Order: sequence, then structure tokens, then C-alpha cells
Amino acid sequence: KAKEHGRNCFQFYTSAMHENAKARSQLEGALHKSLINKELYVVYQPIHDTQGQRLGCEALLRWRSETLGEVSPVEFIPVSEELGLILAMGEWVLYQACSQAKSWYDKACKPFFMTVNVSSTQFKRQDVSVLVAKVLRETGLPANCLTLEITENVLADNSGHILRQLDSLREMGVELAIDDFGTGYSSLSYLKRFPLSKLKIDKEFIRDLPADAEDRALVAAIISMAANLNLKVVAEGVETAEQLGLLKQLHCDFTQGFYHSRPLGAEDFEAYLMHFNESH
Ligand code: C2E
Ligand code: MG
Ligand code: MG
Ligand code: MG
Repeated sequence: KAKEHGRNCFQFYTSAMHENAKARSQLEGALHKSLINKELYVVYQPIHDTQGQRLGCEALLRWRSETLGEVSPVEFIPVSEELGLILAMGEWVLYQACSQAKSWYDKACKPFFMTVNVSSTQFKRQDVSVLVAKVLRETGLPANCLTLEITENVLADNSGHILRQLDSLREMGVELAIDDFGTGYSSLSYLKRFPLSKLKIDKEFIRDLPADAEDRALVAAIISMAANLNLKVVAEGVETAEQLGLLKQLHCDFTQGFYHSRPLGAEDFEAYLMHFNESH
């Protein structure tokens, strides 16, 4: 009996592994076609400053696959990084976001900024500063309207290749933000070594505010440390009025999350921006 049971388990296990491998190769196959088939698009999530003066947004990549339907970036970005597809995708997102930003920059009467996520693979395998210079030149977007979001693992890499790219981006006037701050492995020494301008506190630390005393202490500490280092702070994942209230009290500079708005298609974001302009 036990043996029979064991064998069934084994069969179940191997067929589950087989299913996983099959799903993975389907994902890879579909991903290779995503750019050619024009299945990728960009959505824009508002970022508000807590003074109500400035509005910016984060460009977030979306994929509606013909065969798989809508796939989350949490699923397809890591695979694209492994396959090297992130280089072409990253370049495409940057073009989209910067040409969109240029048209919004021209229409907005308040300072406007666009932030774009850049993967560590792009910094390792390309010169991101050369790419960004080209995109800014071709789209006409002023460098100081662009922020690149990089993760802590980019900074954990000690190579001169990465430091040179970050330095020349900063010299151009592009701002650099650390995304998902607090979730990586790096030591804090990078905060003084790299030319950063913003920290984005990961939504994991925001979720249980204002009730959770430990998260409250961590967020307050991050904000005051950042202020002393001349860095602006963005809180992501802000979903409630109570969270926003506490973040304002703690002098957080920017907030982003479903409380303000979900990520929006280009047309809807433009309407949001125009409404913001009229009401502030
Ligand atoms: P991220 O850069 O940390 O982006 C923030 C994520 O939080 C987005 O998920 C956004 O939709 C989600 N979010 C925003 N407000 C809230 C909120 O109030 N509550 C909750 N629970 N979530 C909120 P999304 O769009 O699924 O993207 C996931 C991740 O995929 C991004 O995390 C980023 O790491 C990566 N990603 C997205 N687009 C790109 C891209 O163009 N390039 C690269 N390299 N990575 C990207
Ligand atoms: Mg981001
Ligand atoms: Mg983030
Ligand atoms: Mg995050």
C-alpha cells in the first residue's frame, strides 16, 4: 500500500516538474515574440510630492501575450533578464517613457518628472549612460526630468564599469533613485559612494503602517537618515489615507500607491495630469 502511494507521489512529482518545464518554455517562446508582435505597452503611475506641488510618474512595463494573456512583470522581467531580452525591452521602455514625458513636460505648467526602472543586467551588459544620452537627444526631454530607478544589487557590484555609468548619468543631470530600498543585501556604504538623489522605501515597510510600531520606527529612521544625506524619499505602496497622513507627519517627500491612483494608460495619465494642473 505504502509503496503504491509512494509511487503515485513520485509520478505526481515528475509530472508537476514536467508541467513547470513546459510552462517555462512556453513563456520563453512567447517572450521572444513579444517585441516583434508589439505586445508590450507601458502604464504610468502618479507620484505626488507631499506638498502638493509636483507630479511625476513611474513607467511600468506590461505584456499582453497573444498566447498567454496578461503576464505580470514580476514573472516575465526575471526571465527576460536571464534571456538577455531585457536589453531590447529596456531600450524600448526608455524610448516610450521619454517621448511620452516630453509631451507631458510641454503641456504641464508645473515641474514634471518621469521615472524608469533599469535592470542590473542593463548596467552590466551595456553602457546605460550612452543609451540614455541618445534617447534624451532624440526625444528632446530635458535630463533633469528623468529619474532612473535602480536596485541595491546594481550598487553591490563593485565594478568601475557601473560607477562610471552612474557618474556620467549624474553629470548629464539625470537623477538616480534606489528602488525597493531596505530589501536588498548591500551595505549602507553605497549611499555615500554613489551619486544618488532618491530612496524609494519598499511597499513591504508601508503595508502595515500606521499600526505596526517596528515599521513605523524603520520608516522614520530611513526618512531622517535620507534627509541628513540630502536624499529625497519616495514611499511606494501607499494605499490608505492613514498611511499618507503618517508619511506626511514624518516629512516623507513623495508618495506613490493605489491611494492616489493605480498605474494608468497614457491617455488616462494625461487626463490625471491635466486635472492636477488645474486644481493646484
Ligand atoms: P517596482 O519598480 O517596485 O514597482 C512598483 C510596483 O508596485 C508596481 O508593480 C506597481 O504596480 C505596484 N504598486 C503600486 N502601488 C501599489 C500599492 O498601493 N499597493 C500594491 N500592493 N502595489 C502597488 P508592477 O507594475 O507589477 O511591477 C513589478 C516590478 O516589475 C517593478 O517593481 C519592477 O521591479 C519591475 N518592472 C516593471 N516595469 C519594469 C521595467 O520597465 N523595467 C524593469 N527593469 N523592471 C520593471
Ligand atoms: Mg520601480
Ligand atoms: Mg519600487
Ligand atoms: Mg517594490
